[in-house]
Amino acid sequence: MKTNYDVIIIGGGVVGSASAFYLSNSGASVAIIEKDSIASHASGFAYGGITPTIGLDPNSSYHKISRYSYKLHTLLADALPHVSGIDYGFRIYPNIDLAINDMEKDRLYEIYKKFSNEYEWCDRKDLEKIDSRLGPNVISGLISNSSSGLDPYKFSLSLLTAAEKKGAKFINSKIDELIVKNNKVKNVVLANRTEIFAKHFIIATGPWSNEFSKWFGNNIPIRPLKGQIIRLKSDQKINLGFHWGTNYVTSKQDGLIWAGTTEEDVGFDEIPTFEARNEILSSVVEIFPFLKDSQLIHQTACLRPLTIDKLPIISQSNIYNNLFIGSGAGRQGILLGPGMGKILSDLITSETSEIDIKDFSHLRFS
Ligand SMILES: Cc1cc2nc3c(=O)[nH]c(=O)nc-3n(C[C@H](O)[C@H](O)[C@H](O)COP(=O)(O)OP(=O)(O)OC[C@H]3O[C@@H](n4cnc5c(N)ncnc54)[C@H](O)[C@@H]3O)c2cc1C
Repeated sequence: MKTNYDVIIIGGGVVGSASAFYLSNSGASVAIIEKDSIASHASGFAYGGITPTIGLDPNSSYHKISRYSYKLHTLLADALPHVSGIDYGFRIYPNIDLAINDMEKDRLYEIYKKFSNEYEWCDRKDLEKIDSRLGPNVISGLISNSSSGLDPYKFSLSLLTAAEKKGAKFINSKIDELIVKNNKVKNVVLANRTEIFAKHFIIATGPWSNEFSKWFGNNIPIRPLKGQIIRLKSDQKINLGFHWGTNYVTSKQDGLIWAGTTEEDVGFDEIPTFEARNEILSSVVEIFPFLKDSQLIHQTACLRPLTIDKLPIISQSNIYNNLFIGSGAGRQGILLGPGMGKILSDLITSETSEIDIKDFSHLRFS
C-alpha cells in the first residue's frame, strides 16, 4: 500500500470529493480517508438543490462564493458524467420561492424590487398558469432562473470516481489524530496502525470538524443541524423547484418527488422520526394537495455542518501551514462543494484563490 502522498484529505463528503477531484486533475497524488463510506452522511442524503440564496448583497462574500461554485457546477455538468461514467441527474430548472402569507409576500416582493433584473415576480394568476395544482394558500412567488438540481450521492461519487481515474486513492478508516513534527503535520495513523504521510492535509469532516480544532490553534465552532427528507411516489411529476419557508419540493432523477425539510438541534442523531415525516408531509400537501394520494417510499435524515455565522470555513491553520480546512457549508454544501474544493486545491497547488476568501477564515471566531 502506498504510504506517501502530496495531499491527504480527511472526509469523503462533497467537499472532500471535490477537493480530491481538483487536486488530482492538477497532477497531485491524493489519498482521501473516510471513516464510513463515500457520501454516507449529508453529502449523500441532501436534497441536491443547486439554488443560490435569493436576495443576497451582490458584494457579499457568500454571494460571490455561491455564484463561483454555481458556475463550476455548470462546467462540471458538461464533463464530469463522461469522465466518471456516472450520470448524476444534473438538471437546470427555475426555482420558485412561494409566499403563503402576507409577510412572506412582502419579503419576496422587496427582494424582487431590489433585483428585478435577476428574478421574475408572479402573482396568484401567474402561478396558476405555471402549475395549476398549487394549493389555495399560495399567494405569490419569486422565480430564480439561476437554479438547478442533482442527485447529491451520485454527484459526490462522480467526483471521487473521476479523481480515482487520475490516481487518487480512497482509504476507509477513521482518523483521530494528526502527527506533527518540526511545525508541520507529517502523517496520520489509520485504524490498522498504518502511517500515511503527505506534504499537505485537508480536513473536510463536515459536522465532525470541531474534533480537529486543536491543530488550527483556534476553536472550529461547527455543530450538526439535523434535516430530514421524504421521497414520494406519484403518477405526477413536479418539474420545477418550489421553496417556501425552510421547505422545498421537486421531482428527482429516481422518478420520486423529494420534499423537505426540518432544522433540528439534536446533536449527532441521524435517525428519521415520525414527527418530521408528518411535519414535512402536511407542509408539502398544503402546497401541492395532489400529494396527499402519494406513497411514502423513503425517509432520510442527515446532519448539516453549521457555523455560528452560517458562512463556510475555508482556511489554512495558523499553527501548521501545510494544514487546511473546508467545512461548515450548512444548508448549501452541495452548491458550495465544487467552489470549496477548487479553492482548497488552488491554495495548495498555487497559494492563490480565484475569489477572496478572507471572510471564510477560521480566525474570525478568535
Ligand atoms: C436534509 C438536508 C438537505 C440538504 N439539502 C441541500 C441542498 O439542497 N443543497 C445544498 O447545497 N446543500 C444541502 N444540504 C447541505 C449539504 O448536504 C451539506 O452542507 C454538505 O453535504 C456537507 O458536506 P461536507 O463534505 O462538508 O460534510 P459531510 O457530507 O458530512 O462529509 C464529511 C465526511 O467526513 C467523514 N469524517 C468525519 N470525521 C472523520 C474522521 N475523523 N475520519 C475520517 N472521516 C471522517 C464523515 O464520515 C463524512 O462522510 C442539505 C443537508 C441536509 C441535512
